[in-house]
Amino acid sequence: MEQTAAVPADDVSPAVIPSFAEIGLHPSILQAVADTGYTIPTPIQAQALPSVMAGNDVMGAAQTGTGKTAAFTLPILHRLMPMANSSASPARHPVRALILTPTRELADQVYESVKRYGLKTPLRSTVVFGGVDIGPQKEALRNGCEVLIATPGRLLDHVEQRTVNLSQVGILVLDEADRMLDMGFLPDLDRIMRMLPAQRQTLLFSATFSNEIRKLGRTYLKNPVEIEVAKRNATADTVTQIAYAMSGEAKRAAVVHLVKSRGLKQVIVFSNTKIGTSRLARQLELDGVRAESIHGDKSQADRMKALEAFKAGELEVLVATDVAARGLDVAGVPCVINYDLPHSAEDYVHRIGRTGRAGASGEAISLFSPAEEKYLIDIEKLTKKPVTRAVLQVPGELLARASSRDEARPARHVRSHSERNSNERSGGDRGSERSARPSRYSAPAKPIDEFFLKPYEPSPAAVAAASTSASTEKKPAIQTKRTVGLLLGGKSKKPE
Ligand code: AMP
Repeated sequence: MEQTAAVPADDVSPAVIPSFAEIGLHPSILQAVADTGYTIPTPIQAQALPSVMAGNDVMGAAQTGTGKTAAFTLPILHRLMPMANSSASPARHPVRALILTPTRELADQVYESVKRYGLKTPLRSTVVFGGVDIGPQKEALRNGCEVLIATPGRLLDHVEQRTVNLSQVGILVLDEADRMLDMGFLPDLDRIMRMLPAQRQTLLFSATFSNEIRKLGRTYLKNPVEIEVAKRNATADTVTQIAYAMSGEAKRAAVVHLVKSRGLKQVIVFSNTKIGTSRLARQLELDGVRAESIHGDKSQADRMKALEAFKAGELEVLVATDVAARGLDVAGVPCVINYDLPHSAEDYVHRIGRTGRAGASGEAISLFSPAEEKYLIDIEKLTKKPVTRAVLQVPGELLARASSRDEARPARHVRSHSERNSNERSGGDRGSERSARPSRYSAPAKPIDEFFLKPYEPSPAAVAAASTSASTEKKPAIQTKRTVGLLLGGKSKKPE
């Protein structure tokens, strides 16, 4: 396969970045871009737009936050404009562009972008993902759509039920392809690929170009133009990184103090475990911080609700696991807090990419216990940037409250059968959503809140959604393996 040399888009100086109009986008799309408030293309857009508009296959190394969604949605809409029509007939609106994403949240965000940029065009779009009722999706597909955004498992459900026709797909996007591979989607991708016309334009976006991604590119792309915007594992220069050493119980007090003393809103706090995520949100609420959690055991509806409240600025804090927060695009997140340090340094890069997006400034605060310092050192090695260590003065009164509440937790948390299953059912990314560590504290004198004495149970809605998703998202061969794996206490790599 011939490849053109990679173009480091970071090297494009602002003086030579052409405007969206100069790039030659269709006027209806230009109007929507102007209405969104974008004035100049981001580096990846400046590089990708002309290539995609010219019909080339493209391999883009770009993380979320670089403007990569518009880098592929704008030129796709542009290329579909000659086929756009306002006929009411679904037959006149076949699926012409298919965008595959690893998670439901990312699918939904891409869909929002497609809708926004295509507002002034008669092009139709829809999104399909698992964990929700398939009925309305079938209805939307029946009405016809030129742009279909999908997660692989649910797309295959529609294929099996013959509710989608992919024979007219001329453009395919693999968004966050590295994550799709991490999450075990390769067999599903292979199946989908075999259903698509060979004559098509394929765009692949990935945070990094690993060997596996290059292999995927060689298999599915033809003479791709390579575009690279962020260096491998780079963290944005606009994000200030700071780490405060502190022990377990002081961390919660620190979060409350940081949010309240600075009047922060829309802070994402990362926890490594699903149970830890729920607990922390609950405890922050008790401390007067408006907080919600999102993780894999919550139903899709609950996750969307929390996300909407967060985006609307109604929450001060969204506590999230790595998997649930993947690809989250919330404009203006001023700060992310690592309540637990991730055990994979790459996850740190993804986490702090939620702030400082598209050139805005942001802050990444890490709270680390002595046992976690080794992860901080790994992060510094990977990003090749030192993280400033500092001391955070937390008011004694907050510390006292946090430690008294901490003592109210059960001495040991023995995971229930349902919890073990639900942890595994909804899956985690390379084990990032692990079970909670047993507390090293002794039994409580008097509980402050009954909640902390109950073993963790997913909500009935989450169980229902997960079992729907298990029955619709999984293919038979994989299902058998998963069941055995779960019975043996194994971890699933499948998405939530
Ligand atoms: P993405 O990397 O696609 O997740 O985009 C990150 C953020 O950048 C989103 O909030 C976009 O709305 C925003 N964005 C995308 N393109 C531009 C642009 N040309 N100018 C300013 N903001 C942009």
